[in-house]
Amino acid sequence: METKLLYLSSGYEDAVNSAADILKNGGTVAIPTETVYGLAANCFDEKAIKNIFIAKGRPQDNPLIVHISDMDMLNRVAFDVPPVAFKLAEKFWPGPFTMVLKRKPEIPASVSAGLHTVAVRMPSDKCAHDIIAAADLPLAAPSANLSGKPSPTRALDVANDLSGRIDAIVMGEDCKVGVESTVLSLVDKPRLLRPGGVTVEELKSILGENLIIDKAVLSKPEEGKPVASPGMKYKHYAPNTPTVLLNGSSEAFCNYVNKRPDCAALCFSEEFDNIKVKKIAYGSGDDYSSLARGVFTALREADKLGCTKIYVHAPSTDGIGLAIFNRLLRAAAFEVITL
Ligand code: AMP
Ligand code: MG
Repeated sequence: METKLLYLSSGYEDAVNSAADILKNGGTVAIPTETVYGLAANCFDEKAIKNIFIAKGRPQDNPLIVHISDMDMLNRVAFDVPPVAFKLAEKFWPGPFTMVLKRKPEIPASVSAGLHTVAVRMPSDKCAHDIIAAADLPLAAPSANLSGKPSPTRALDVANDLSGRIDAIVMGEDCKVGVESTVLSLVDKPRLLRPGGVTVEELKSILGENLIIDKAVLSKPEEGKPVASPGMKYKHYAPNTPTVLLNGSSEAFCNYVNKRPDCAALCFSEEFDNIKVKKIAYGSGDDYSSLARGVFTALREADKLGCTKIYVHAPSTDGIGLAIFNRLLRAAAFEVITL
């Protein structure tokens, strides 16, 4: 299949309208969002949904998030929406925030991997919003990477993973948040399934201590047990080179990697000059937003360094650090060393 490249820089309206047309006709289109690039399709079109799973090589039991551009669209995908969802939407939509609600029967079960629920998000990225509105369709859109690889935060990452496998790519700017949305289930008591662009601290400003943090956020799900968020059980976001997460001070991190000449270090920019092995700074240790923006690119680039192991300096788990730590944990297949 030939993948059309739609450049926003050479005509915004044309690119948005072409993307919307392809989506209305049952195609798959990668689109920029503020979190990561998403691989979108009409959420009501079973065949288009199937093509998303095929293009990504995504396991059938990993459900998709449905993206909407206004509150009216919420009624087309979910029902019995609890009052707290509207409160949360007022505060965090549009933005990097997803709510799991009861699924309308019009949405094929395959979108939600057979669950009776549907995950819904209203992105803040202008291009994502405009494409959903132009198509006038809620769009199911997982991250636009090959399943298991680091999520794509640049149009180029999408092209590298999915060229020839999808109908089009909207070639936009780099993603401003850089990690995926926060996923909160509201089907029962509010439960954080995946940390993301909206922090636990921000959620607590609305939910108080009612917020439950699912075990899968920071620990390895037990073999064979059902998990609330199927996406969290996989080794994920991973480079091909074995990756290990290191927890500790800058001094301890630098000492550890400097004793291992065959390794590469994914470090904070403040540590860069003190590291003697191959290295990539993925952001500043004083600015976690920069770490979030840089983490997936660094994981992709680290594979090209030619090393036997990648050691990543873990951020602490406050603020958006929790989302970064959660992704790194999966990139490292849960291998963590505390220094
Ligand atoms: P991705 O779109 O690749 O960012 O992955 C979507 C994430 O949302 C995965 O971790 C899924 O498990 C989670 N998710 C999507 N729909 C649901 C749902 N209905 N219930 C629970 N988790 C969901
Ligand atoms: Mg993904």
